[in-house]
Amino acid sequence: MSGIILIDPPPAMYDSYGRHLHYLRVSLTDACNLRCVYCMPEDIQFRPPAELMQDHEVLTLIRVAASLGVDKIRLTGGEPTVRRNVVELVRGIRAIPGIERLAMTTNGVKLEALARPLADAGLDQVNVSIDTLDPEKFRRITRRGDLDEVWRGLEAADAAGLHPIKINCVVTRGFNDDEVVELARLTYLNPWEVRFIELMPFGSVADFQFHQVVSSAETRERIEEALGPLVPVPGHNGHDPARPYRLEGAAGRLGFISSVTEPFCEGCTRLRLTADGRLRLCLLRDDEVDLLSPLRAGADFAALQEIMAAAAYRKPWGHGLEAHEFALSREMSQIGG
Ligand code: SAM
Repeated sequence: MSGIILIDPPPAMYDSYGRHLHYLRVSLTDACNLRCVYCMPEDIQFRPPAELMQDHEVLTLIRVAASLGVDKIRLTGGEPTVRRNVVELVRGIRAIPGIERLAMTTNGVKLEALARPLADAGLDQVNVSIDTLDPEKFRRITRRGDLDEVWRGLEAADAAGLHPIKINCVVTRGFNDDEVVELARLTYLNPWEVRFIELMPFGSVADFQFHQVVSSAETRERIEEALGPLVPVPGHNGHDPARPYRLEGAAGRLGFISSVTEPFCEGCTRLRLTADGRLRLCLLRDDEVDLLSPLRAGADFAALQEIMAAAAYRKPWGHGLEAHEFALSREMSQIGG
């Protein structure tokens, strides 16, 4: 035996199609300080706090995921920054062995004050959602938001080193499809990634949304007509849903997330944990497995590992949008995108 070192293989979760699942998106709350028209109905009722995962429960379930090989966490919502204790929660997640990358998707409203404390607590990067550069239109799309506040948040995130900064822009026909060129221009001077996301039909507004999808192909064409050729950025690994391009001479890049017209299910490495503690196996399918109830009923760590790994194994191959199969059980804001 001398000279031979036996090393246990690292833990890993695979689904029945052989996809390696190592990225968990965790919704910290279903509540939000905006009401984006395509994300939730105006009169949405948020869940009572007792139904949501408490801080120690979030940490336990992430620990379980990390023990099964999850190495990347993205915090989302609702709006993750409206969760009480979000900075302490970030610190706690950062300390979990195995978590190598910790990101957040946010509307940016509270980032001006929170970017530095979040970075100090161990957050690596943020995606900020900005669908328009027009303050009046921003207020209309978000039903209340102040674009200036979000810009100050974005600048604070940049100054705090939450890089790479990504801007998420959902392209919606009749709302902001005429603005994609101006949004793309942001990348000339800023080393950001502006990501154009196809509107996904969802929840109570699915039918309305289906008719307002603007394909990535159409968005790319519009940008190229105005600003010249988009050059594909080499090295796209197939796991990042955004296909990356660059405008000639630009500091930053553009990404296109084409969930509806060019799905990327084959490269999916993601699972989602909803704020009420359900493991959601595919964003666009209603298939979920309850983890919070067993945790509250006293299931031990090994039992939770077993439930999570078994659920992950039966992750569906992909969504059924082409067949007009929509996920209807929740609004997007109740999952986190
Ligand atoms: N509140 C945070 C935010 O605004 O980024 C995080 C949650 S939000 C649900 C996450 C992302 O999903 C945002 O970029 C939002 O624009 C996007 N989103 C919401 N509804 C969508 C839909 N129907 N189709 C595509 N993206 C959507």
